[in-house]
Amino acid sequence: MADEIKLRLPNGDVLSFESGVSGAEVAQSIGAGLFKAAIAYEIDGVKRDMAMPIAKSGDFRVLTFDDGEGKHIFWHSTSHIMAEAVRELFPGTKVAIGPAIEQGFYYDFDRKEPFSQEDLEAIEAKMREIIDHGRAFQRCEVSCEEAIERFEKEGEIYKVELVGEIPLGETVSLYTSGSFTDLCRGPHIPDAKMIKAFKLLSVAGAYWRGDEKEKMLQRIYGISFPKKSMLDEYLEMLEQARARDHRKLGKELDLFSINEDIGPGLVLWHPKGAIVRQVVEDFWRRRHWEEGYEPVYTPLVGRAKLWETSGHLGFYTENMYPSMEFEEGGAYYVRPMNCPFHIAIYNSQLRSYRDLPIRYCELGADYRYERSGVLHGLLRVRGFTMDDAHIFCTPDQMVEEILRVYNFSLDILQSFGFTEFGIYLSTRPEKSVGADEWWEKATVAIREALDKKGLPYKIDEGGGAFYGPKIDIKVKDAIGREWQTSTVQFDFNEPERFDVTYIDEKGAKARPFMVHRALLGSLERFFACLVENYGGNFPMWLAPVQAVVIPVSEKFEEYARSVYSELRKKYIRVELDNRPETMGYRIRSAETGKVPYMLIVGGREEESGSASLRSHSDGDLGAMPIEQIIEKLTAESKPPK
Ligand SMILES: [Zn+2]
Ligand SMILES: [Zn+2]
Repeated sequence: MADEIKLRLPNGDVLSFESGVSGAEVAQSIGAGLFKAAIAYEIDGVKRDMAMPIAKSGDFRVLTFDDGEGKHIFWHSTSHIMAEAVRELFPGTKVAIGPAIEQGFYYDFDRKEPFSQEDLEAIEAKMREIIDHGRAFQRCEVSCEEAIERFEKEGEIYKVELVGEIPLGETVSLYTSGSFTDLCRGPHIPDAKMIKAFKLLSVAGAYWRGDEKEKMLQRIYGISFPKKSMLDEYLEMLEQARARDHRKLGKELDLFSINEDIGPGLVLWHPKGAIVRQVVEDFWRRRHWEEGYEPVYTPLVGRAKLWETSGHLGFYTENMYPSMEFEEGGAYYVRPMNCPFHIAIYNSQLRSYRDLPIRYCELGADYRYERSGVLHGLLRVRGFTMDDAHIFCTPDQMVEEILRVYNFSLDILQSFGFTEFGIYLSTRPEKSVGADEWWEKATVAIREALDKKGLPYKIDEGGGAFYGPKIDIKVKDAIGREWQTSTVQFDFNEPERFDVTYIDEKGAKARPFMVHRALLGSLERFFACLVENYGGNFPMWLAPVQAVVIPVSEKFEEYARSVYSELRKKYIRVELDNRPETMGYRIRSAETGKVPYMLIVGGREEESGSASLRSHSDGDLGAMPIEQIIEKLTAESKPPK
């Protein structure tokens, strides 16, 4: 008789089974609905196919499409189906890798002819055929030698290369569905029939291993869902996202540009983008001051020795710009991060526990080398400004400081109109530096702070950096997409490396806790997020142009100019449109420019010292004295709080 095993479910219930029971059987005994939705299961944190037997007691959980992990398995499984279809339709095509990504999946193929739109349609039709037929994903484990032999025979050179990196003597898992066998860790969905809707979205070039020196492959992107309506919603969202794309709006609204002569990934902020940035910065500075931060300014470059001490010249060199050699004093590097400079200010004098906490903040420009293939508008750049701060505090102050920074960060994000957040805590990975006691204290402090606020959060066990646990906050934009914004990162590494200390109550030297944090992330990325969230329709306090004065004819230009100057003197971001165009044309132009207010002035307005006010969102508001308009616009321009 088989042994009895006990499985603990996420709700705390414990169920007994015979050892060797499959995940599918367990799901079925829990409920028919769960069984139907089951994508894979997890036992003690290990994800497996539903068909695989469970030998030992443990924590059991079924993954469905509602979980991030379930989604990824679902999407990745679809990539197998796509690869199978491609191989059947285009014999000789070699397959590289096919992972799930944030939204959907891709597979990289090596084929001479480029995939055309017609090819994509043919692949979709073939995939539909395969899915209708049904496909189970059969797992088998073989030795590396066997796998290499198999893939060599099939001419799958990329798979051979991948297996070749695994130490000989180890086993690898292969999954076969239909005519296609792939090297894969798994798990996969129980049957391809679960895929009720899918779409191939685009083809792009991608280097093997992301390396420019390697061969250029063709990457087909796709997405899939367990329900047809979910695909429709997704495609609708994509449509909206295209209309909001910050690169498109950035050009249309003249906000920024990136110029190849200056360099890829280096951003030029045009006046209309720069003024928005300035408003964001002013707001940021004021709020940081109120929160007890002290602004600092530090240089953009530092000596090699500094980056050796910080450790960047070991593990981070490939992300740094190359060094600048001087005749004397050795090499200098453009900074990829601001931390060592803030630490140097802290270390410039002896600190006592009475001085702590110390909170230095800086809108610090950094430069990092990113492969040209991954650069993307303002989202992946090579030069950016981080809204950075470093907090030094005693271990006793930590809970309070974490709670403060967490509340502050939510507060700042809410000021920009975001109300939905994704909050993630990443804990200690296997390999890490720092004493157990510190990790324990910091992690407990973070949990305490998160629990106090009461917002739901997800824990990524072991997902922290090697030098400390962290909190990530993502905001949900107007069309439901998540954007990474705030990061609160503990650091047990740099304080050691730079010998950061303070004198404690007993007069002994002690190590303070150090926290790096950025609330908006980088100004570039956050600006892209704002542009796309508002679809270019900035709220009044952020609008690059808040009002435009339009004289009805040349005769009233002088009056229009005086209205313009008065508004400008009151810090209203105003423009004068006296172009020799029709009124209708100029009004339309202000509309497409998404300017919140138009002040239209003619004879009647000039006589009474007024303007006809027209709002972008509410239409005509009638004539109003200029003073009243200034008052109204000024009140509406106030940043939140
Ligand atoms: Zn797979
Ligand atoms: Zn830092």
